[in-house]
Order: sequence, then structure tokens, then C-alpha cells
Amino acid sequence: MEMFDIKDAIELLSEKKISSVELTKNCLEKISSIDQKLGSMLYVDGKKALEDAKASDERRKSQSVLSDIDGIPVTLKDMILTKDMPTTASSRILEGYIPPYDATVVLKLKQAGAVILGKTNQDEFAMGGSNENSSYKPCFNPWDLTRTPGGSSGGSAASVSAEMCFSSLGTDTGGSIRQPAAYCGAVGLKPTYGRVSRFGIIAFASSLDQVGPISKSVTGTAAILSHISGFDINDSTSRNCSVPVFHKELSRNLKGKKIGVPEEYFCDGIDVAVKKSIFSIIDLLKKSGCEIENISLPHTKYAVPTYYIIATAEASSNLSRYDGIRFGPRVGDEKSLLELYERTRGELFGKEVKRRIALGTHVLSAGYYDAYYLRAQKVRRLFANDFKAAFSKVDLIISPTAPTTAFRIGEKIDDPIAMYLNDVYTISANLAGLPAISVPIGFDEANLPIGAQLTGRPFHEQEILNCAFHIEGELNLNLSPASLKS
Ligand code: GLN
Repeated sequence: MEMFDIKDAIELLSEKKISSVELTKNCLEKISSIDQKLGSMLYVDGKKALEDAKASDERRKSQSVLSDIDGIPVTLKDMILTKDMPTTASSRILEGYIPPYDATVVLKLKQAGAVILGKTNQDEFAMGGSNENSSYKPCFNPWDLTRTPGGSSGGSAASVSAEMCFSSLGTDTGGSIRQPAAYCGAVGLKPTYGRVSRFGIIAFASSLDQVGPISKSVTGTAAILSHISGFDINDSTSRNCSVPVFHKELSRNLKGKKIGVPEEYFCDGIDVAVKKSIFSIIDLLKKSGCEIENISLPHTKYAVPTYYIIATAEASSNLSRYDGIRFGPRVGDEKSLLELYERTRGELFGKEVKRRIALGTHVLSAGYYDAYYLRAQKVRRLFANDFKAAFSKVDLIISPTAPTTAFRIGEKIDDPIAMYLNDVYTISANLAGLPAISVPIGFDEANLPIGAQLTGRPFHEQEILNCAFHIEGELNLNLSPASLKS
């Protein structure tokens, strides 16, 4: 069966031209035929998925559908708690852990009737940008199996790109939804901080984390966002404000929209093909009636160091709960508590996670707190001010999602700084709490996808979705990776 977009699937389901069981079977067949070479799934429950699909088809027959996405098969990043499936964050320290409850986003998807196929591969505790920090297995880019799918939601983006599901939920602390979406030729959206509940999402850096959708199309991404958004009494950081039905309100009309181009984003380190591609989109937007304005985000050069101080500080605190007692397996003699802690954490956390805990503990320690953590928090305010000034002049900001297309597996793994620098375009939106989307805009000479990032004002997801929708409609790219067709 040729795979199609959620939009078509929704239509076909509602016209009863296809069943959820057929869609689900098709996804499961793809997973079993392709995923051995791709490595995007950590856990699949085909039996349960088919039961849920059957129940969805029954609801359709009896005219009691739960929502327009009732019966649509999706996957979930392994940072998202699922009460009937293991949730490991790709870490040995949570191996075999089955949470006692579902995350709010999972409940919402279930209440909407979506069919959950399984859990996706990722960097351990979402720390990384290539999926190479997974403790279980590598994940490969469906466009070129020698390259990374990006990270940390690499398995989510790869599962969408390889058409093993219609959408996947990822998490984004510094770019982990947008960057893998860009590398895999998919659409990925990080919502405004507070738009989507994080109750039941494994915490990495709580002041930055958000959960959001990755799909093949803007409509698919918008549809899932509509269903997972909203206030949650269980998440004190979720905002009580109205939620548009994003996918029903999509509009391609951009006339008079002001688009900002940050001058700091187009200097050293950016790939020629990426730069060229972004400028051709800027041209396209101009021709479509947008006003293009050069803007400045003067503190951009501090984004990477600021992020890596705040994120590691929060991670060191959040990860202190993994002690071998409360969750998952333990290593060591139970007669010595200290040894139990040391061995469990020493043997079951991976290298990058330990690096971050060490860094984060250092920047929070007495004597260094003011110099690093407090200073970083002050610089963070400057980013918010930069964006506030920019958004007094423009409606949205365009930039590359990442400086290059997907890099080769192994290329940056021994050089953490090079890996961290890759986040330069994505982390500002997290530091300032803004919504941002990555949309495919073309390919480089090696036929690897390129993504453009659109950043908007707080709670203006509709605005960035509309612009992405326009770009998608104008370009009409073929986003099916040929390598997986055979
Ligand atoms: N690459 C970034 C990091 O390693 C972002 C990760 C994320 O967004 N979860 O921290």
C-alpha cells in the first residue's frame, strides 16, 4: 500500500474507504520489514495496536468516533510514560521499567482514538543530537543509512520518514524535535513552553523541555498538536489558554506578513547548500506577498554556552532520582547504600549522561553557582529581550534548522563541542520559550533533506504552521526516501 498523509488517512477513514486495521497492519508490516536496518523502534506492541485499531473501526461503524484522528497509528519517543509499555529513555538505568501511569499526552491521544504502535529510539535521556547516545542500538537515517537521523528524537523522525507511522511524538529541550525532523525530511514542531502538558514526560531540563509532534506534513503535525495541547492540572507549567483547532485553521495566505531574517544566523559554519536553500525560500516568501526584514538577535553567540549550563544544571538535579532504589534495575550490595548508588549510576548511565551530570553539578556547586548558573540565567533573559524586540517588528523569524544536513554516524561522537555547536539555531527558542517548526525545503547534492525553521511569538503556533503550510504547498516535495523502497 502506498503510504499517504494523515489528511488523506482521515478522509479515507471517514469515508470508510479504508479501515484503521488496514492502516495499522500496513505500519506494522513496514516496521517488521524495514526497522531491522533502521533501528527506530525500541518497543512495538503489534497485538495491542491491532486490538485498538479494531475497536476504532467498531466505533466508526457505530457512528461513535472519538475524533478525526480516531484510528490513526502513531509512535512515541521513549521519554514519554506509557503504562502498558516499557519506558526507558534509551537508558540502561530504566531497562524494563513500566510506568504506573500514562503521560497526559498519551491519555489525550488515547482519548482521541489514536493507535499507539510503540516506543521510539532516542539519545539517552534526550541528551544528544544524533541518536548515537542510545544505550540500546543505533538508529540510521532513512535517506542514507550511513548517516544519523539526528537527535535526540531520532527514532521518532526516522519512523515517520520511513512511513512506519503517521506521526510521532518527540521531546525538544534544545532542538530534539526540529533537528531530526530536518535531517529526515519531516515536519517537526516544538510548541510554546506551557502549550502542551509535560505530566508524565521524563524530565531532562524542566525549564526548557516541551513535547510535540513530527509528521510528514504540516496538516498532520497541526492535527496532532490540536489533540495534545491544553491546560493540565497535573502540570503547573501548562498554560490555561484557548487552543485553536490548528489543522482546521490552516491558511496559505501570507500577504502582508513580516518575516525576520537574523543577520547573526548566516555566518561561519553554515553549509553552502543550506544557506542557498534558505535564501531561495526567503525569495519565495517575498513573491508570496511577505515583507522580509533583516533583524538582529545580538546575543546569539552566547546561546550554546548558556544552554549547556542551564540544561546540564537542571539535568543533574532531575537525574538524581535514578538511584537504583526508586526505578529500574540496581547494581551492588544492598548492605552498602553508597556502593549501591555509585555502582548503579556508574554502571548504568552512559558516557554523555555522566558528562552532563558532572558539568551540571559543577556549575551548581558552591563557589561556581554565581559565576556559571546565575550568570547563564541572566543571559537567558537577554535572549528573551532580543526576541521581544524582534517580534515588535516582525511576525515570525526564518532560519536554518541546523547548519548542515545529516552528518555521518561517528563523525562528531568524539567531539562533544562540535556536537553541541550543531544546536546553534534551535536552542534559542527553548531558552525564550517560543514555538518553532522545522519544515522541509529541499535537498543538498547528496539528496539529503534540508529544513527551514520558523519561530513565532509565544502561543502563535498557528502563524508558524500557516507559513510552513504555504512553503509546503509551493514546493510540493517528494518526501519518500527512495532507499527504503526495495
Ligand atoms: N542536542 C541538544 C542536547 O544535546 C538538545 C537535546 C534535546 O532537545 N533534547 O542537549
